Amino acid sequence: MNADLERLIVLQRLDSAAHDAQQRLAGQPELERSLEARLESVRQAVADAKLRFAENQSARRLIEKNVATSQGRLSKFRDQLMAVKTNREYQAVQKEIEVAQTEVKEMEEKILERMLEGDELAAAVKRAETELAAQQKASEAERRAMDAEVAELKASLERIGSERAELVRAIAPPVLTMFELVARRRNGVAVSEARNGICTICHVRLRPQVFNTVLRNDQIIQCDTCNRILYFSPAAPATTPDGISQSAQ
Ligand SMILES: [Zn+2]
Repeated sequence: MNADLERLIVLQRLDSAAHDAQQRLAGQPELERSLEARLESVRQAVADAKLRFAENQSARRLIEKNVATSQGRLSKFRDQLMAVKTNREYQAVQKEIEVAQTEVKEMEEKILERMLEGDELAAAVKRAETELAAQQKASEAERRAMDAEVAELKASLERIGSERAELVRAIAPPVLTMFELVARRRNGVAVSEARNGICTICHVRLRPQVFNTVLRNDQIIQCDTCNRILYFSPAAPATTPDGISQSAQ
């Protein structure tokens, strides 16, 4: 194989690997944000559960305070009962006592309801906290994995950078210029495999004469359509039958 063509194939592999690594690095902040958002929604669920529990508790305390007030009135009426002079007065105070007793009874039922509700809400707080603890643990593990990936990507970019610098020095300058020009215009991909008579990137059929030259891998040949530098990989499967049919044309 033409030495520069061989180097260009390696160069392309390095550039594509660097591109992938850069893409993955660029995606990291978004991954971090979504991780943080997931955690934040579980934190919010804990805060909501705690708020509902606190509301239940203060509602219950308010009823308890009202019960105490009604009970104070009840004992005042009972004292009055001792001091009444007439039957009519007695009946009037007795009536007040009954009203207050009914009130207390109703409020006590409400307190019981609030207590039962409070137990459920307290359990919900516990569940939310357990979920948060699990999420925090999972997030930390994910974050560690992300950090490790970032470190690995940066290291591989550095490796690729130095390999590339060394490789580029060995390539004939006009060939390298051609590679870089095509790479700039073609989204970073300047080398394409020709297989079955077709440029495998732009999918356009090559002229038979071009393909036959590419089969030899001894020159720098560009695709007429996408301008990428073409090579032939004899090891690739399914190339031989078409290669034969191509050369028969
Ligand atoms: Zn092409």
